[in-house]
Amino acid sequence: MRDSHDIDVVDLFVIGGGINGCGISRDAAGRGLSVRLAEMGDLASATSSASTKLFHGGLRYLEYFEFRLVREALIEREVLLRGMPHISWPMRFVLPYHKDMRFESDTPTSKLLTKVMPWMKGRRPAWLIRLGLFMYDHLGGRKILPGTSTVSLKGTPEGAPLVDRLETAYEYSDCWIEDSRLVMLNARDAEARGAEILTRTKVLSATREGNLWRIDTQDTETGEMRTHRARMLVNAGGPWVGDIIRSKVRLNTREGIRLVRGSHIVTRRLYDHDKCYFFQGTDGRIIFSIPYETDYTLIGTTDAAHEDPSQRPVCTPEERAYLLEFANRYFKRSIDEDDIVWSYSGVRPLYDDGASSATAATRDYTLKVEAEGGAPLLNVFGGKITTYRRLAESALEKIGEHLTVAEGPWTAGVPLPGGDFPVDGVDRLVSDLASAHPYLSPFHARRLVRAYGTEAAEMLKGAKTLADLGEDFGATLTATEVTWLMNKEYARTAEDVVWRRNKLGLRLSEDEVARLDRWMDAQRRAVAAAE
Ligand SMILES: Cc1cc2nc3c(=O)[nH]c(=O)nc-3n(C[C@H](O)[C@H](O)[C@H](O)COP(=O)(O)OP(=O)(O)OC[C@H]3O[C@@H](n4cnc5c(N)ncnc54)[C@H](O)[C@@H]3O)c2cc1C
Repeated sequence: MRDSHDIDVVDLFVIGGGINGCGISRDAAGRGLSVRLAEMGDLASATSSASTKLFHGGLRYLEYFEFRLVREALIEREVLLRGMPHISWPMRFVLPYHKDMRFESDTPTSKLLTKVMPWMKGRRPAWLIRLGLFMYDHLGGRKILPGTSTVSLKGTPEGAPLVDRLETAYEYSDCWIEDSRLVMLNARDAEARGAEILTRTKVLSATREGNLWRIDTQDTETGEMRTHRARMLVNAGGPWVGDIIRSKVRLNTREGIRLVRGSHIVTRRLYDHDKCYFFQGTDGRIIFSIPYETDYTLIGTTDAAHEDPSQRPVCTPEERAYLLEFANRYFKRSIDEDDIVWSYSGVRPLYDDGASSATAATRDYTLKVEAEGGAPLLNVFGGKITTYRRLAESALEKIGEHLTVAEGPWTAGVPLPGGDFPVDGVDRLVSDLASAHPYLSPFHARRLVRAYGTEAAEMLKGAKTLADLGEDFGATLTATEVTWLMNKEYARTAEDVVWRRNKLGLRLSEDEVARLDRWMDAQRRAVAAAE
């Protein structure tokens, strides 16, 4: 029972508006806890907008014997897909095979094989890939996603863009996810269930005062300071998790975090079909090549040690060269620097399990509660976008050891905003939207459904012509959409809009983005003046 005098004390204060902070907030708010989340930048402004954007089991983790993680992630793909069929969809992955593909030398599988089959000299045999794919097909209780098949690369669309020496490939399923929209929709749903979401709010310090936490924050736009009180603190700071423990909460800990940078490059569309490639290297690593935003191809990723979370990650010239060279071992038409239209980079906050290389460090998550000095603190280490919902459930189990959590797990299959339609219902929604709004181009209608799902109709309600959608910022972005993003989706700047609420930054010129920024700034001032 809550007393009237502690009305402003929340049950949970969550630091970090990435996927883990927003996922935990949504789950907790839905179970009746009072929740406040502080994010120092925009939602998903760090790692959670810089991923490869896959709901995947992680085929390569099987070589590290990470069976728990792979199984959980495989099962999770379809659970997630059902709850967000607008921002997530199945993809087929084509994995060409040739005999020079090698293991990273310190995977448990590689070590085992070197012992029993020394003549393989670190090569990854075809039977092993088939075994991995068999496990991938059967570990995860697939119902929607098709299983593995073999594809010829001779005279087929899948083989057309690839070098001639490749003859056969395996094909398997995983899912695409719009990572930054996923984060924002979790935040919105958390708010709809009573949570308070504070963006541009930095946590400066968190101190135990008996059974409560006192948390001091600063609004990064106005400089305004605020003090909050909470029964439990959740540190979902991603790459900053260690920094928060040491310099905001000021605790000594033995838990370590390993920061591993991963970069991607984006080129104009490199091939005509809608499948992805899974390319294996001779260094034991793999990269993906993925059809991206209709007209582009996404290639990544790298694994490089990253020392300091406050150092903004960028795709270095070495990483660009590495990705180009890797892809060029597979593509018939060689690609170079001039083909790159954009690149991005993110830092994986991996739990430090003492692995020798960045590639080998575990991708599983670890939750640790610190309750010795009074009010409890939950630290979140590692994790993947794919396992965020399960991570949130595990977090709620831990939270339940310290706070009264009356309700059990509830998020499986519960739609996120706009996701309340069948998994195969996107085409239907697009044609309904296009008939109700015949002035939309096919690209525009599909883009809106893929971003907003069933809410696209609500956004366009009452509009009879394109002019009714207000100012046109280019690339189908209109004032109606930007107003929606500012009012409902926490967007503050043009960068939030064109890189995290959508990817129209790929299509808009610098001048167009600057004009959008000025327009948004004027809107914000008008709102502030009216308050
Ligand atoms: C290159 C790359 C590719 C990946 N690909 C995939 C993939 O395909 N599939 C998959 O499942 N996973 C993938 N991942 C993993 C996944 O992206 C991450 O595990 C996940 O995004 C981490 O989320 P998070 O919430 O823990 O961290 P973040 O998203 O980094 O969120 C932490 C937030 O805390 C905020 N914060 C920090 N300190 C403070 C403070 N003092 N006050 C207020 N806020 C603060 C930060 O601003 C940040 O927004 C990939 C990761 C990388 C880097």
